[in-house]
Amino acid sequence: MDAAIYPGSFDPPTYGHIDIIKRALKIFDKIIIAIGVNPEKNYTFSEKERIEMLKSVTGGLNVEIDTFSGLLVDYAKNQGISVIIRSLREVSDFSYEFQMSVTNKALSEDIETVFLMTDKEYFYLNSTIVKNIAHKGGDLRKFVPSSIAKSIKKHYMK
Ligand code: ADP
Repeated sequence: MDAAIYPGSFDPPTYGHIDIIKRALKIFDKIIIAIGVNPEKNYTFSEKERIEMLKSVTGGLNVEIDTFSGLLVDYAKNQGISVIIRSLREVSDFSYEFQMSVTNKALSEDIETVFLMTDKEYFYLNSTIVKNIAHKGGDLRKFVPSSIAKSIKKHYMK
């Protein structure tokens, strides 16, 4: 199958995100990683930092890294892509993800959301946990690749 969009905040990207990108590439030829840059969201890392972090861990993979603001369905339409990749972790993800996919379907009939299950290793891993650990000077090795750990440390030293 051709291409799919994997949207998210990636604030910062973690091993969980990378696992989903690699799984998605087993189903789709190309993944467009679409970094959300919505003004109403308060991101910790800048657009540039998030792009750089994702670039540093996706070398050799057939991905394109892009940013989007506004409605995801409009972005997908402009890209000519009708499949969105999202992931499900522990149960609390379900209602939010279900709501988003139903809303996207209501906005655009042609859009399908494909859910990939997270690896059991990353079941409870999210960007907020990583930021909390980083903020307190903890060891990030189990949660993010070293290039990302370096960028996170640099950010908190600013
Ligand atoms: P958003 O703000 O759009 O939820 P995130 O970067 O938090 O952005 O998440 C983007 C997608 O990546 C979501 O579908 C989320 O479930 C998935 N994701 C985040 N962390 C993990 C993880 N540890 N394992 C698998 N998927 C994850």
